[in-house]
Amino acid sequence: MSVNPPIFLKDKEENNSKFVEIQQSQTTSIAAEDPLQNLCLASQEVLQKAQQSGRSKCLKCGGSRMFYCYTCYVPVENVPIEQMPLVKLPLKIDIIKHPNETDGKSTAVHAKLLAPEFVNIYTYPCIPEYEEKDHEVALVFPGPKSISIKDLSFHLQKRIQNNVRDKNDPEKPSVKRKKTEEQDLNDSKGQDTTLKKIIFIDSTWNQTNKIFTDERLQGLLQVELKTRKTCFWRHQKGKPDTFLSTIEAIYYFLVDYHTDILKEKYQGQYDNLLFFYSFMYQLIKNAKCSGDKEMRKLIH
Ligand SMILES: [Zn+2]
Repeated sequence: MSVNPPIFLKDKEENNSKFVEIQQSQTTSIAAEDPLQNLCLASQEVLQKAQQSGRSKCLKCGGSRMFYCYTCYVPVENVPIEQMPLVKLPLKIDIIKHPNETDGKSTAVHAKLLAPEFVNIYTYPCIPEYEEKDHEVALVFPGPKSISIKDLSFHLQKRIQNNVRDKNDPEKPSVKRKKTEEQDLNDSKGQDTTLKKIIFIDSTWNQTNKIFTDERLQGLLQVELKTRKTCFWRHQKGKPDTFLSTIEAIYYFLVDYHTDILKEKYQGQYDNLLFFYSFMYQLIKNAKCSGDKEMRKLIH
């Protein structure tokens, strides 16, 4: 079954020469053109050791796993949690995964492991209710109605104003009308228009479409990412290399959100979200070079 990443990027926008594909070895070496080598990462020594000693036990379910347990979302016994980086995010992330998606192959778990307070993973069709939150929650999805991250604040503000109008519309009696219209409009002006939560769909492209058409998600603002080439190691035949893995999509979304919405200089704040990803990428690459089938089996 296909396991490739769900996030398809429209082929447009700026040239991302900064994000060209991986070229060389060690994560510690520097190569300006290589995105995964310039990351500000915590020491991956713990992963090196774990990789050398092989699979170990999940302390929750007892399963034998490499690095982390993809069903319990915890690191395994020989990867002490205190040696893992903890990433702070500027907003919450909901990841909706398709029940058919193979757990062990999803990179969504990386986000939950590295930013546990900010990330929740839901298995479709059990997803939260977003109906009342459409002015502060958005969905990453490339569709005809999708907007760019840069335009997020504008569209959120518009929604806040529309909600106020709806509230005061006598045709819509379901909402309590406590305040006058004037008061409400004033309130809306004072409200901040930053995003509180961003939703990602973690599944293959066909399954993504099915989840996307769920009416609980239909009212949400849809955001698309800039074109970036994936470093993902499970390239699928016939799929463009702009299919990002879920963790890459999350990472690049946050980098753009930081610069475009928070208007702050990006200084590697979210790089550790790629703590596992960059290490595993390197393993796969080395294994491919040396023809190490065992290692490939272990990681894939
Ligand atoms: Zn487990």
